[in-house]
Amino acid sequence: MWPRNAVQSPVMHLSSEALQQLKHDHRGDVIAPDDARYEQARRVWNAMIDKRPAVIVRPRSSADVITAVRFARANGLPVAIRGGAHNVAGRSTCDDGIVIDFGEMTGIEVDPAAKTATAEPGLRWQDFDRETQAHGLATTGGTVGDTGIAGLTLGGGFGWLEGKFGMTVDNLLGIDLVLASGELVHASESSNPDLFWALRGGGGNFGVVTSFKYRLHDVGPTIVGGLVLHPFPRASEALKFYNTFMKTAPGELVAAAVLMTAPDGNKACGIAVAYPGDLAEGNRILAPLKKFGPPIVDMIGPMPYLAQQAMLDQAMPPNLLNYWKAEFVEEISDDVIRVTVDAYSRVPSPLSSILMFPIRGAASAVAPDATAFPQRGGYHLGIYSLWNDHTQNPRNIAWVRETWSALKPFIAGGVYVNELGDDDGSDRVMAAYGKNYERLARIKLKYDPENVFCLNANIAPAVT
Ligand SMILES: Cc1cc2nc3c(=O)[nH]c(=O)nc-3n(C[C@H](O)[C@H](O)[C@H](O)COP(=O)(O)OP(=O)(O)OC[C@H]3O[C@@H](n4cnc5c(N)ncnc54)[C@H](O)[C@@H]3O)c2cc1C
Repeated sequence: MWPRNAVQSPVMHLSSEALQQLKHDHRGDVIAPDDARYEQARRVWNAMIDKRPAVIVRPRSSADVITAVRFARANGLPVAIRGGAHNVAGRSTCDDGIVIDFGEMTGIEVDPAAKTATAEPGLRWQDFDRETQAHGLATTGGTVGDTGIAGLTLGGGFGWLEGKFGMTVDNLLGIDLVLASGELVHASESSNPDLFWALRGGGGNFGVVTSFKYRLHDVGPTIVGGLVLHPFPRASEALKFYNTFMKTAPGELVAAAVLMTAPDGNKACGIAVAYPGDLAEGNRILAPLKKFGPPIVDMIGPMPYLAQQAMLDQAMPPNLLNYWKAEFVEEISDDVIRVTVDAYSRVPSPLSSILMFPIRGAASAVAPDATAFPQRGGYHLGIYSLWNDHTQNPRNIAWVRETWSALKPFIAGGVYVNELGDDDGSDRVMAAYGKNYERLARIKLKYDPENVFCLNANIAPAVT
């Protein structure tokens, strides 16, 4: 499964003096290409990505991060930053550079009285949720448990709680990060507010985050959640119903539609929901959705919030080959339905899916320029190809590209920065930020004028 290029270029080796110095200065692990752990350590979630860093460091503290950034600059190494390694474009690794891998910084402190959590960037959502739910608390986080909090938070963060509490970025209270200069700074509404604005959507462009502080809310432990499945021949009808249903559903309700292949091997249209409020009210609101069809599977009902958060974990496992494209659409119009259902009828891999996830309620009540994340409405539409055989790369990539092309006449513009692929260029990064791009470029010029942090959906420093 792990790709092997026919001809591998040699891995860049640092001088033994440089490596010894790094091992001396850096408390956490330093993994060079001749280390037995290197092959495993260089892997990321998407098995299409096959890069060979010159060195991988696993910091244990902010001091280690400062050491790594200074070392990278002194040795002219590109810097890749890794939280949960889920970025589909493989931005958390690189060839011939340094990977700052937060795999050993996974701590979290919950303050139940203040309803806040301070978390280290190597933490995954499943652990964040477990720690916060122990106090009946949560914040908007990813819908698949092993996704990293770091990359998801820095790019925006949609999730089941966004309708009630906003995007993940809307729940950030403060961030500590190491700048390109090697200085550790704090960003919040009152401290470096320009940087705080940029970090809420601007990704890894501004520095290496060592700590996130989040606002938490009372959630559950039981919510109304789950999903219904309709047979694929009725997918168009189900999506039409979904589009109409969402127009009048309360903002707190988040419901996502997905074209997928069910565990029994049959194609299906799923509608997954979460209502994190009063249970009786949730049941009442969702009654029409349970009745329509009727569905062939109905798993909607009261369930633990933690079970809701784990519901999709099996659908997107690590180490598969992935190729994705994403867009925003204003609604699930008849045209969008026609194109996506037709495309899914020809999907080459049963692991692939087309997801329609709304940005709504509290998430859409925030102004597009209030944070760097501008997409405050409509539906994120992800065309996700997942497969496990390299010989099938061309077929699966072609399916995504053809579906994406067919959708183009119906898109709203804009794209979720966290789902840009490695073949998406600077025009797509600009599309992701829209009118916020220029302001981001000016803030980039102030905090990272030499574009040290360029292995990301890159915002080039503004030209003065
Ligand atoms: C299975 C799956 C499910 C997903 N579900 C959702 C979802 O429900 N909602 C949603 O909004 N998105 C979702 N996504 C997209 C997700 O937001 C991105 O993949 C995101 O990059 C994941 O963060 P990570 O820390 O795991 O990624 P990584 O690959 O580790 O990091 C991605 C990028 O973030 C930046 N970064 C990471 N850590 C730091 C740091 N400490 N300091 C500075 N920059 C840093 C770097 O630029 C890095 O390249 C999902 C992705 C996958 C693969």
